[in-house]
Amino acid sequence: MSQVEQHVVHVQTGALAEVGAIIDGAAASRVYFVVDETAYIASGAAALLEPHFSNRSITRFSGFDLNPKLHDVDRGIEQFRKADPELIIALGGGTAIDLGKLIGTLACQQESAHDVIIGKAGIQCSGPPLIAVPTTAGTGSEATHFAVAYVDGTKYSVAHNALLPDYAIVDSMLTHSLPAGITAATGLDAFCQAIESIWAVGATEKSLEYATESARLSWKSLADATRNPTADARRDMCRASHLAGKAINISKTTASHALSYSITSEYGVPHGIAVAMTLSPMLAYNSQVSEFDCADSRGPEHVLNRIGLITELLGGESVAAACGKIENLISVLGCPNSLKLAGITSNTAIQRLVTQVDANRLSNNPRHMTSESLFALLSNNPAPGERGMSIP
Ligand SMILES: [Zn+2]
Repeated sequence: MSQVEQHVVHVQTGALAEVGAIIDGAAASRVYFVVDETAYIASGAAALLEPHFSNRSITRFSGFDLNPKLHDVDRGIEQFRKADPELIIALGGGTAIDLGKLIGTLACQQESAHDVIIGKAGIQCSGPPLIAVPTTAGTGSEATHFAVAYVDGTKYSVAHNALLPDYAIVDSMLTHSLPAGITAATGLDAFCQAIESIWAVGATEKSLEYATESARLSWKSLADATRNPTADARRDMCRASHLAGKAINISKTTASHALSYSITSEYGVPHGIAVAMTLSPMLAYNSQVSEFDCADSRGPEHVLNRIGLITELLGGESVAAACGKIENLISVLGCPNSLKLAGITSNTAIQRLVTQVDANRLSNNPRHMTSESLFALLSNNPAPGERGMSIP
């Protein structure tokens, strides 16, 4: 599938003002609004957007579960069809934006949302234009043509160009009121997406450009944005998040993401933290790539080059040092940096994670993995602090 470009992208402080201009310009009288109500008020977006909603029919969709679920998609589709909107706005974190993508697109298909999500039916046409407004700096969902959905506890990723939001409005002011825990978890998602994108089999020169700049920005500013938030650190994280979204929109994610979905659905660990806790073991694993197990057709030297780039970005003198730095960053953010610390210790629990892993995402990892190698890696997950590095 060739990539389509977004119509309008605004990544700057104060960018939210553009939403009003787009609504007015589109002369849309019926707007469908997928909104995380808490974020809407706390971010200050409500005060800015409400004046543009007068004299228009606004159908609001809120009260959804965290991480998109089929029952919420179905509820939205029913409401959407009755409202017959001309424009969609999705405002909130990754869940709100993914729901906006799914509802707006799947409401226009003949087949059921269930069948499209599980891959039994395809997407035939696009919905009305979607304006995506993230209020967290993490998922980069406003820049991707994917949407995650859970059906009976199983995670699916729907991919289609019709899911790419037409407008992405990234305004760091909206993240100023985020509590430290959310800043850390969402920021870790952005950081891991960038690192995974750098080593992904699907990476291109373009995705590498986005991913490298993204990783550089989150490495520089995630700890500050979480512990001592300044406007600059918030702005860096918003850029990092959006760039990581653009990077994985091309390269897709790899093993740490593949593993994370069961950690989230079974143990309730926030997405970004669930991904981050296997990033250091995966960096160590991928650094041992050889011609016998290289999954990237560009060869092991290419992969080692990318691993070298990551090590350099993190200021590590060796891969082991870079691994220690990743673990320390996660720890400094107040998050568990290993499966062990999240209480996932038994061989049975680790075996379950391994059997539930998304094979497609795993095949995008630069070094082949078997169930056995994955189990060995995760069950030997070293305890934090063993490498004794300090955060930069
Ligand atoms: Zn993610």
